[in-house]
Amino acid sequence: MPRIQRRLMIALAALVIAVSITTGFWVDRSLRARELGHLERLLGASARAVVELVRDVPFDAAHEHELTELARRASLATGTRVTLIAPDGSVVADSELRSEDLASFGNHANRPEVAAALAGDPGADTRRSETVGRPLLYVAVPRPPGVVRVATDLAPIDAATAELRSALLAGGAITLAAALLLSYLISHALLRPLGAFHAALARLSAGELGARVRWRSNDELGDLARAFDGMAEDLEQGQSAIVAERDRLAAVLSVMVEGVLVVDAEERIVLANPRLRELLGIRGEIEGLRPLAAVRNADVDDALRAALAESQPVHREIALAGVERRVLAVHAASFAIGDAKGAVAVFHDMTEVRRLETVRRDFVANASHEIKTPLTAIRGFAETLLGSELPASDARSYLEIILKHSERLSRLVEDLLELSRLESGKFTLEPEPLDVGVLAAKLCRELEPRLRERGVSVRIAAEGAPRAFADASAVEQILQNLLDNAIKYSDSDREIEVRVRVEGDDVRIDVADQGLGIPEADRARIFERFYRVDRGRSREQGGTGLGLSIVKHLVQASGGEVWVESTPGVGSTFSFTLPSNFTRS
Ligand code: ADP
Repeated sequence: MPRIQRRLMIALAALVIAVSITTGFWVDRSLRARELGHLERLLGASARAVVELVRDVPFDAAHEHELTELARRASLATGTRVTLIAPDGSVVADSELRSEDLASFGNHANRPEVAAALAGDPGADTRRSETVGRPLLYVAVPRPPGVVRVATDLAPIDAATAELRSALLAGGAITLAAALLLSYLISHALLRPLGAFHAALARLSAGELGARVRWRSNDELGDLARAFDGMAEDLEQGQSAIVAERDRLAAVLSVMVEGVLVVDAEERIVLANPRLRELLGIRGEIEGLRPLAAVRNADVDDALRAALAESQPVHREIALAGVERRVLAVHAASFAIGDAKGAVAVFHDMTEVRRLETVRRDFVANASHEIKTPLTAIRGFAETLLGSELPASDARSYLEIILKHSERLSRLVEDLLELSRLESGKFTLEPEPLDVGVLAAKLCRELEPRLRERGVSVRIAAEGAPRAFADASAVEQILQNLLDNAIKYSDSDREIEVRVRVEGDDVRIDVADQGLGIPEADRARIFERFYRVDRGRSREQGGTGLGLSIVKHLVQASGGEVWVESTPGVGSTFSFTLPSNFTRS
């Protein structure tokens, strides 16, 4: 039972009991007093009637018999005990006693009512009669010179008050039960809305913002419930606005290419977006940690500290050691919005930018070097030719060398231009159904003089005349470069095989030679620009070191892949794929 209910019931019960007791006591007292007063008046009247009856009979021993007779008659008539008392207080007659017992009855002059009557006034008293052994009401009136006293039993009054008392007790018990029931019902009715308030509050504080009291009544509780529900509604709306804002922020942060790290004024992490975790290789929860503990990089920690300490934004570039080296640019700045103070660091991945910068630097250095070599040779031989009188045969051989180097220079420039065209992304391919076997055969016919010169033969194996869907001139350029390499890096009397077949959704082309082969360490790098296994041999063969780069670009632009398998001293197989015409349709 709720405490309030118990308290209310106890209070009401106490009130009922207190009221019942006081009312009972008061009613009992006043009723008894009234009854006694009434009885006293009746007895007074009876006493006066007796006075009239015995008026002419003197109160002395000589008339004892007569007086006793009168007393008995008067007693019968009034229904009371009648006692006649002489002026000295001795009893001369009594309706309840025989004459012979009177002597032992004792003097009554000291009885309060008798004393009053002897003094001339009517007197009354209530006490227990030793003669009859019960409480009696005595009323005495003067009958000069004696006293007439009448008495009556108080038992009827006692019985009446006892009856009243038990009636009051029963009434009190019924009232008590009614009060308890009533207080229970009232407190229950009062507590019901309180229960609704309590439940709604508990749900609200547990985060269930849709909780409402929904108590409708036209009283103060109804007003309170409406005010409470209004407040909960505001809270819910405010909360959903906050949630929407938070979700928006989370959505933005989750798709950001940059890593974002936010720390508070104590340099404890309050936010880290997914990209940051990815960039810094963080797993698990890091909110609440310090950057040094979470990221394990002193530079990051340093940048954030500097940003917190300075009002200016801090820019740093940091290198992360790991499986793959990463370069990150960090921009950190402190902020103070209301009570929120801290610093935000934004991380950009600069790895690719820096790698491309290195590649470009290397490329410029390599290209300059490649151009410089033939240029130096051309210049040297031209100066020699100009500066001295040479025999015609020497002059011719010098001119041949100059021609060879200028041809190489021109090939180099052509290849560089081609590469730049491919890398610019501006070139367009025009794919069409293409029989690669036929194309290879046409190329071989064109290469016939070179093949013959090198003593190398080419065999073409095209299974089922597969058709690719590719740009003819791109595929021709790919094949030309691969065949050119196969011829360049093969000794005489060797065979080159071109195999064309369908593999899965692609057409696969292998160009296999029985040449030098490529050491494993170099295999991954030969597609890089200017990378050559044997620089001397390549140059001697008129290579530029750009052929395979061009091949790789063209194959990838055609939607295929290129790779090499090789065994040094046995031969190499360059393979590439092209989308098949069959797949397209
Ligand atoms: P290059 O003009 O030097 O041939 P490429 O880019 O075509 O340049 O080839 C790069 C390097 O790969 C060559 O210098 C050579 O060392 C190696 N290579 C290419 N093709 C073959 C092959 N068929 N056999 C052996 N080595 C090859």
